Amino acid sequence: MKKIALIGSTGSIGRQVLQVVDKHPESFKIVSLCANKNAKLLSEQISRYKPVIATLTDSLAAQNINSLPTKTTFYYGENSMLHAVCECADIVFVAVTGFAGLKAVLSAINQGKTVALANKESLVCGGELVTRLAKEKGVQIIPVDSEHSAIWQCLDFDREKPFEKLILTASGGAFRDLPLENLDSVTAEDALKHPNWDMGKKITIDCATMVNKAFEVIEAKWLFNTTYDKIDVLVHPQSIVHSMVSFRDGSVIAQLARADMKLPIALALTYPERVEVSSDKLSLVGKSLDFLSLDDNRYPCFSIVMEAARRGGVYPCAVSCANEVAVEYFLQGKIKFSKIQDVLRYVLDNITPMDVTYDNLVGVDKLAKSLAISRLSHN
Ligand code: NDP
Ligand code: MG
Repeated sequence: MKKIALIGSTGSIGRQVLQVVDKHPESFKIVSLCANKNAKLLSEQISRYKPVIATLTDSLAAQNINSLPTKTTFYYGENSMLHAVCECADIVFVAVTGFAGLKAVLSAINQGKTVALANKESLVCGGELVTRLAKEKGVQIIPVDSEHSAIWQCLDFDREKPFEKLILTASGGAFRDLPLENLDSVTAEDALKHPNWDMGKKITIDCATMVNKAFEVIEAKWLFNTTYDKIDVLVHPQSIVHSMVSFRDGSVIAQLARADMKLPIALALTYPERVEVSSDKLSLVGKSLDFLSLDDNRYPCFSIVMEAARRGGVYPCAVSCANEVAVEYFLQGKIKFSKIQDVLRYVLDNITPMDVTYDNLVGVDKLAKSLAISRLSHN
């Protein structure tokens, strides 16, 4: 029985982790649950899973958590998430969005806990810190993102295996086929219609801008201990091939499956074993697989994030944190789609380099967000 601390239980990934747990109750036990604001759903989850610990970051929303099972201790407030990274867990599943995930990841590693990582922003912002600490503590970081799970499978779960290139696939997001001149008039509602995946709002917008794929390139660099010149991106509209690895002899190995995050979620919890996640299996009959190169004109945000990645240091963190603000503003209908790229560029150009320490990253998070807000408010 694997004991799971679930950080971000009310989100798209968090809810799917619980579906996997429900399908295999004999294999998993939820020992902690953590969310931000959604007190209603967290309350339901608490009464169903009876965790040892439950936490809500938003203190106001926490007033709506009323009845608790006798064995559940409830914490709330800014740092309450850290209580959810509890002693009794075998694995910490980090499924929150944004920079907030970094502290949970570092806390889990410091406690020697295996991390199942959906929160890519923690590697984008603090990849150097996270991977160094994980190595020091002998802790495994297991990929949950579908592309990274695919690569890990293509490598037979062996991250030391030599490869020539990692080939990440990208669906192209909601605006892959939209005429370029129409991009400026798209709304959040349009952007949320992802062609193949049903995900949280932020990542769906990040797919439309292709910020998500640039984040995944950074994530791949850290997870597979490689360099950017060994990572390629191909647009693959069908989202059937989740990623590929090429080898010295010219072989390319790919992982194919239905677009269902429950597969990489379950694998992160059970590998090297595989368990059933859905009776609905991939059928290839009548399907075609297309691969195209990435159009820089359509996805300017991809190039900006990659520029930050190549500069390294705190730059990717700055751009990621600015992106959180830009996406939120776009979702609220306050800015046009094209403004997202403007904010990323502005923040990248206005951040000064510094060492990658946790305290500096916390400072960069605040600074990048306030720079982004001021840029968006004055234009
Ligand atoms: P959602 O927005 O659906 O869910 C986010 C979860 O994190 C919610 O439970 C939310 O709580 C919680 N949360 C956010 N901020 C905090 C905080 N400060 N303290 C505590 N809890 C917090 O996101 P997704 O599930 O879509 O994505 C989660 C992560 O997984 C992201 O990093 C994303 O990039 C990555 N990912 C997602 C995929 C997907 O298919 N959805 C695929 C691959 C990666 P509340 O509900 O209360 O606001
Ligand atoms: Mg992905």
